[in-house]
Amino acid sequence: MATNHGVRGSNPLRCEVSMQHLMIIKVFTAGPAETNTILIGCTKTRKAAIVDAPLGSSELIVQALKKDSLIPQMILLTHSHWDHIADAAKLKKLFNIPIYIHPEDAENLERPGSDRLPLYFPIEGIKTENYLSDGQILPLGELKIEVISTPGHTPGGVCFWLRQQKILISGDTLFKGTIGNLSFPTARPALMWESLKKLADLPPETRVFPGHGPETTIKDESWIKEAKKMFEEF
Ligand SMILES: [Zn+2]
Ligand SMILES: [Zn+2]
Repeated sequence: MATNHGVRGSNPLRCEVSMQHLMIIKVFTAGPAETNTILIGCTKTRKAAIVDAPLGSSELIVQALKKDSLIPQMILLTHSHWDHIADAAKLKKLFNIPIYIHPEDAENLERPGSDRLPLYFPIEGIKTENYLSDGQILPLGELKIEVISTPGHTPGGVCFWLRQQKILISGDTLFKGTIGNLSFPTARPALMWESLKKLADLPPETRVFPGHGPETTIKDESWIKEAKKMFEEF
């Protein structure tokens, strides 16, 4: 039931656009695992953050930034699985902006494949010293991006929470109707349940943008409080 990172045949591009309280959020799907890359923009200052960097996302991001006259400030990574970091080095070179990741996931960003997942194509590693921690707040123009540490799918998985806009970027911790795979070599299944409880405590109307698949809300995923019972056998 849990979504894996298997390579699928198609490579669709998807873009969803919405505006909410001084904020632009755009979602593009790219790469062989149909991974979402998310662009957050402050409508007042035009400052933007790029969340996750699947293969082929850099071209989409460049076009989107141009279209909305946005100025990229930072690359934020929900975790370091290959399908979320493939274009990170390319984006870093294009914009010369910091890349943020939780320290527990930094090794696979520096040495892709060190998490013992197979790589289907070469990925350039990148060293960063911009580390994320639980409760950290990253200002982006008038917006505030809060970090929620959600280990489980990976040891250093995080979600990004825009409290004022009630928007959560959930990476591979939570998808519409399911959770991230807990059987990969670096997964920490025992930590996932507490991570999901943190998300369950967010306002029910919170819009959730996952690392794969469509948008959902915390209300629609209220089952995550009981996720341990549902998924433990996996
Ligand atoms: Zn993942
Ligand atoms: Zn993924």
